Amino acid sequence: MPEPLTPGELLALDRQHVWHPYGPMPGRTAPLLVESASGVRLRLAEPVEGRDELVDGMSSWWSAVHGYNHPVLNDAAQGQLGRMSHVMFGGLTHEPAVRLAKRLVDITPEPLEHVFLADSGSVSVEVAVKMCLQYWRSLGKPRKQRLLTWRGGYHGDTWQPMSVCDPDGGMHELWQGALPRQIFADAPPAGFDAAPDEAYAAQLRELIARHADELAAVIVEPVVQGAGGMSFHSPGYLRVLREACDAHGVLLVFDEIATGFGRTGALFAAEHAGVAPDVMCLGKALTGGYLTLAATLCTTAVADGISRGALPVLAHGPTFMGNPLATAVADASIELLLSQDWAQEVKRIEAGLRDGLAPARSIAGVRDVRVLGAIGVVQLDHEVDMAAATRAAVREGVWLRPFRDLIYTMPPYITGDGDVARICAAVCSAAREG
Ligand SMILES: *Cc1c(COP(=O)(O)O)cnc(C)c1O
Repeated sequence: MPEPLTPGELLALDRQHVWHPYGPMPGRTAPLLVESASGVRLRLAEPVEGRDELVDGMSSWWSAVHGYNHPVLNDAAQGQLGRMSHVMFGGLTHEPAVRLAKRLVDITPEPLEHVFLADSGSVSVEVAVKMCLQYWRSLGKPRKQRLLTWRGGYHGDTWQPMSVCDPDGGMHELWQGALPRQIFADAPPAGFDAAPDEAYAAQLRELIARHADELAAVIVEPVVQGAGGMSFHSPGYLRVLREACDAHGVLLVFDEIATGFGRTGALFAAEHAGVAPDVMCLGKALTGGYLTLAATLCTTAVADGISRGALPVLAHGPTFMGNPLATAVADASIELLLSQDWAQEVKRIEAGLRDGLAPARSIAGVRDVRVLGAIGVVQLDHEVDMAAATRAAVREGVWLRPFRDLIYTMPPYITGDGDVARICAAVCSAAREG
């Protein structure tokens, strides 16, 4: 057994040696030290603001939909651990990966038939882009290598994904000039229920038509733009994209890494629009938040196109591709989700968020309050004071991670009504103090 370290020692070492997401080195604000997690609660190693337990309003960045330490997922992981935690995927295969791939094909929109297992969401977007560019190369159209997206998006932190993140105000503004230059439409007009704006739809059609010769694909987050600004738009625009892409020979990629597995009230956000993409990315909630895993699905037309080319293979193969532990837990997590009335749970949370966040409308400095599925957002008219907002939430016994002008929550689907109310109270406190 290694020497035990005190919380103070751990935090000092953390600050000195460990990078955190979007963090400076050394760290400027101390993270909270988590000792364990169970259900919807994170247990802290030492009390903060008088709390040693926090209700998790973040699902660990949209992933832990069943909460923590779930017996079914623990069993799946432990069972697989006793057989093998990993074997290479080149030349070998195994039941967990095959079962998961078949399940993903069964539950995603019908034309998606083939599954590439990647190790993170960003990598699954890289693979999606490679698939699209290679498809056109194989078909003798190598000029088609740019991407079109709308502003306000987020697709990950590696190179190609960064190039389609929001170019202004997004987290990757620094890299303008170095990144591949993509084509940006305006951000979609706000509101899931808003009637589609004809002028905006015309802009999408016009851009796709004008750039068709150089466009490999359109890539968007359907219905909810997550880390780019937590905004919702009409599913009608997805139908416009589908029609324009078909009309002009452009592939359509849906990044459902944040929206997949029920978060917006539909199993996949594409279902709100009744359209299917040519390529789809999944991640985040795929393993119920247990392990890192993502997937890129494509149609038979895309796979066949690639396979007819001079290089008739998809030249991508991460070392930990198809990891047995991650795929076993992912398969168990999806089975667990589908074995219950998850849509009812998401509706119940949606109703709780609508009630609980309504008072935020009258808080000074609040610009907008919006809810869709198990996503609740309070947007301020100024940058959030992260330290003050976090402290206010922790004082209420809740873990939140605001960014930019946004205080938001997407709780695990197992969050009870009392805890949803508590999360909402914490969001309101954070909005008042942040
Ligand atoms: C989180 C996210 C990604 C990136 O996934 P990572 O696993 O963090 O690499 C890509 N697209 C969307 C929509 C996301 O929400």
